[in-house]
Amino acid sequence: MEKREFWFVVGSQFLYGPEVLETVEKRAREMAEELSKVLPYKLVYKVTAKTNKEITDVVKEANYDNSCLGIITWCHTFSPSKMWINGLASLQKPYCHLATQYNMEIPNDEIDMDFMNLNQAAHGDREHGFIAARLRMSRKVIAGYWKEKSVQDRIASWMKVCNGVAFSKSLKVMRFSDNMREVAVTEGDKVETQIKLGWQVNSWPVGQLVETMNAVTDSEIDALMDEYRASYDFATDDIETVRYQAREEIAIKKMMDEEGCSAFSNNFQDLYGMEQLPGLASQHLMAKGYGYGGEGDWKVSAMMAIMKRMGKDENGESAFMEDYTYNLVPGKKFSLGAHMLEVCPTIAAERPRIEVHPLGIGNRKDPARLVFEGKAGDAIVVSLIDMGGRLRLICQDIRCVKPILPMPNLPVARVMWEAMPCLETGIECWITAGGAHHTVLSYDVTAEQMKDFASIMGIEFVHITKDTTVESLEKELFLNDIAWKLR
Ligand code: MN
Repeated sequence: MEKREFWFVVGSQFLYGPEVLETVEKRAREMAEELSKVLPYKLVYKVTAKTNKEITDVVKEANYDNSCLGIITWCHTFSPSKMWINGLASLQKPYCHLATQYNMEIPNDEIDMDFMNLNQAAHGDREHGFIAARLRMSRKVIAGYWKEKSVQDRIASWMKVCNGVAFSKSLKVMRFSDNMREVAVTEGDKVETQIKLGWQVNSWPVGQLVETMNAVTDSEIDALMDEYRASYDFATDDIETVRYQAREEIAIKKMMDEEGCSAFSNNFQDLYGMEQLPGLASQHLMAKGYGYGGEGDWKVSAMMAIMKRMGKDENGESAFMEDYTYNLVPGKKFSLGAHMLEVCPTIAAERPRIEVHPLGIGNRKDPARLVFEGKAGDAIVVSLIDMGGRLRLICQDIRCVKPILPMPNLPVARVMWEAMPCLETGIECWITAGGAHHTVLSYDVTAEQMKDFASIMGIEFVHITKDTTVESLEKELFLNDIAWKLR
């Protein structure tokens, strides 16, 4: 895996003399080393910047170095901000301002004016913050003591977003067939999306997939069947049907890997030459970290791949999901989410079962699929929509529960949740914002991370929380519309 790291750039000036600058540098190195031990990516101390040129040079280097996922700045002392303008104005990497301080406590006996001059982050970080505000820069501001776990956790969370950003900017999506006929919300401007998010979205013929499937060998299928047995329970005797899914999975993966794609979409309306809709095949690919979108939904597929990269161990608990049906009984009001087949097994509460059942849609043979219940716990659902001229990322807080019904005749993976602030208002807000029926449901990516992602990418972000009202949301959307037209 290629080297990925963050750069620590500390602001100062010549005013304080060489001794103070040496102390600042020594401490900054120590902080970068200590933080690197607890953060998901290495933090590399780069420079104690005292001139316009030093800052411009480090920014240029950051822009062109692929291993640098973002920069973190801090001002141990005062650093006059006019010397930051040229550098920051040309910065192309994510930027976090860590407003911290080397010492935790004000030392009662020791404190004098020398101490004040050396430890004046409270003062220097305000000057530093002004210039980023004046430049209207997207940046993450994190304040607090650098050794405190909650501060370290927030830096870690932001770093994971930056990893998703870097991934997004080189993401390739393989489309088999177009979007489902007549569906609006899965459409979108692929050129605008590439400009904003970097995605290369292109299509390949289903016929080529079928040819690749036909070339898959029995021993390749045997090997994948062993993987299936290791991960899932077989609740079917129809081994040939499962083997056909393995054949599909191997072929889709081969085509994606050949093109360097990390996400794909297909459409049940175009399975020309295929005997089964890929169910288990798509699910097992998702478990490996590939993004997926049904009905040609390349936006949800790409978002899923990115959110998986941002999650635990870079293949987190984010799944392609679809709002299906409601339980509207007072006191037990929930959404039931599922898909025809394709829900990622990384969100399963139990070991998934491979089952074979008829599928009324798509006019193909009964496909094998994984059946399971999703985990209970706090989560988010995320939808990226094209508003015409701009992209809107909608995120809703949800609380997943163990499904309150066993639903023995439902032959698909299922998740049950309560949308915030409550089912009805949650639905009203989601529909008002224009959110899709397809979402990425995530247990380990947070709403704050999605907000940071949208901010870095320069797209609209709408967050529906426990405190959202329809009235406040309508006002926000109205003002957003005006603001985005002015940009
Ligand atoms: Mn769907």
